[in-house]
Amino acid sequence: MYATCRICSGSVKGTIDLGSHPRGNAFPKPGETADEFFYPLVVGMCDSCTMVQLMADIPQEVRYHDSYPYYASGSSVHRGHFEGIAQGFLDTELTGPDPFIAEIGSNDGVMLAKIAQAGVRHLGIEPSRHVAELSMAKGVRVHSVFFDEHSARPIRAEHGPADVIFGANVIAHIAHLASVLKGVKHLLGPRGIFVFEEPYLGSVVEQTAFDLLYDEHSFVFSVRAIQAAAEMYGLELVDAQLVAIHGGSMRYTLSQPGAREVTPGVGELLAAEAAQRLAEHSTLEAFAGRAERIRDDLSALLGSLHAQGKRIAGYGAPAKTTTVTNYCGIGPDIVPFVSDSTPSKQGRLIAGSHIPVVPPEVFAADYPDYALLFAWNHAEEIIAKERAFSERGGRWILYVPDVHVI
Ligand SMILES: [Zn+2]
Repeated sequence: MYATCRICSGSVKGTIDLGSHPRGNAFPKPGETADEFFYPLVVGMCDSCTMVQLMADIPQEVRYHDSYPYYASGSSVHRGHFEGIAQGFLDTELTGPDPFIAEIGSNDGVMLAKIAQAGVRHLGIEPSRHVAELSMAKGVRVHSVFFDEHSARPIRAEHGPADVIFGANVIAHIAHLASVLKGVKHLLGPRGIFVFEEPYLGSVVEQTAFDLLYDEHSFVFSVRAIQAAAEMYGLELVDAQLVAIHGGSMRYTLSQPGAREVTPGVGELLAAEAAQRLAEHSTLEAFAGRAERIRDDLSALLGSLHAQGKRIAGYGAPAKTTTVTNYCGIGPDIVPFVSDSTPSKQGRLIAGSHIPVVPPEVFAADYPDYALLFAWNHAEEIIAKERAFSERGGRWILYVPDVHVI
């Protein structure tokens, strides 16, 4: 299976085939599952620029909808992380006269609220009106539009060049990334930086985090592919740093060519990627094989526990839960509910597998024997919070990087 690269128009070879999947964040209501949208979840790498990407084109009207339930502020770890990023920008980049920062996909304003409090000129660019309204309530200025080469022009005309453009867990979602990079090139000031952090291919491969693959992740970035993409669209990768969030992300910094010194971290990470053979199709093929083994091991474990009469609940309903339950064939017969604290997901179903999402009170009211931890990237925070579950003999099932019980 081949597709055309969204960055360089080269040839993308599909190597990771997880089968037919619904949208990760669809969360249909009971009784609304008859016309679920399914697409082939196949991911491959471009032969030319090495960008790893989703093969299928998901129609934009299907991808973004008003009930999009992801809120960046939801986790206290995330909140602290983004406030730290804002403070970092205030200390180092937004120190000149009348600085300006723009955020692509500003979500509920978790990062920009701190910038707004400091009285610094800012603009959130958030196409989802519903979450944009939440950030406006925090005093954040928001423009409800898709960021691309066209919308960047009136933004620059009105606000001037940006000292910082930021994006977190959004840039890899945007299928029209080429147009975004053209927009950044236009909006970014001569000394400005474009900083974004996204799940990192090296971490995804290392942990066999196959559940990070779903419809919204149009790309899984590597340092090498971002360096190539930046160069293609008149920008330069000047820094890359691993960040321990979402199970392993990379923070990339781009600037206008020659505007900033390239840090040694870039070369070091490129060398590490070469050693990991990250740009080889065989690495993704091996990943697909390991994902199959996890699927088989997890199905066998859950089947055996179920046969013993053990009660199993799901814990956490991020979009990842949709990939895992559909790929591994886990349904409400084995896992009767998933506990999640996001009100907008409660009372709904995991798409495709149709496991009901319930509030955490249901989990706590009658602890199951086992909890299948879908939100494994928050394992430490969750296991500490749910100490009472462990103390009563409850066990956690994790499946990344392999199936294990703790
Ligand atoms: Zn390419």
